[in-house]
Amino acid sequence: MSTSPFSLHGKTGIVTGLANADSIAYGCARAMHQAGAELLLTYGNAKADKYVLPLAAELSDSEALLCDVQDDAQVAALFERAATRWGKIDFLIHSMAFALKDDLHGRVVDCSREGFALAMDISCHSFIRLARHAEPLLKDGGTLITLSYYGAEKVVDNYNFMGPVKAALEASVRYMATELGPQGIRVHAISPGPIKTRAASGIADFDQLLASAESRAPLRRLATIDDVGHTAVFLASEAGSGLSGGTTYVDAGVNVRA
Ligand code: NAD
Repeated sequence: MSTSPFSLHGKTGIVTGLANADSIAYGCARAMHQAGAELLLTYGNAKADKYVLPLAAELSDSEALLCDVQDDAQVAALFERAATRWGKIDFLIHSMAFALKDDLHGRVVDCSREGFALAMDISCHSFIRLARHAEPLLKDGGTLITLSYYGAEKVVDNYNFMGPVKAALEASVRYMATELGPQGIRVHAISPGPIKTRAASGIADFDQLLASAESRAPLRRLATIDDVGHTAVFLASEAGSGLSGGTTYVDAGVNVRA
């Protein structure tokens, strides 16, 4: 029997950014596990272990490691673990962002130098760093996926300076896709519509953003973490092997509305 091109059986990879069962990273991990992949999961905050470890236990064969992307030793340990466990990986998902509240809640014009640099480091440059570590392990090519948002492209009320940060992330995806493509490494941004998560709760009036997205979306619903996970499976599978460098919207279509 031939394997479906949508299957991840025999594939291994890293899913970063789990905080709890609402996390987009968890939706990705669950879908990739269902599709047959073996996973290494990471969480960025030691206090999250009580939420994350039971989730990892549900996904058999998955293990969870603490990995703060600002801690070079923890990042190195993550890839050493992947190398020891499998000798290679097929995909990596970067699902994390951080902004100081004062900067996030103010005008772009007023955001602090330190706050901008911190948000760029955790939300954008960390994808570049993780890709650099992943490259030697992507021995048969593979897929690198990050999570962006529509505020990268158009001004979304209250998204503020995360708009420029996500714009830099999406531009990085295009450059990285071009640099790594000759090795068969595909690089993607997935841009979900608004989803109620811990990180999203930091955005002012987020409930209004949810209500507006739901009523304006062509599908008249919000995107879910499962929708995002299934798209990640497709992009990481053989079925997605002709795509690279783009931003894929998983938002019930709301991005097409003026
Ligand atoms: P979440 O709070 O569940 O996940 C955010 C993650 O970032 C957490 O696991 C947190 O530990 C991690 N993180 C923060 N600082 C870190 C650090 N120094 N090292 C390692 N990890 C760190 O929220 P989420 O909504 O699932 O966010 C995941 C990604 O999805 C983010 O990039 C976010 O911008 C993006 N996104 C979210 C939405 C939404 O509406 N929820 C929409 C579009 C894009």
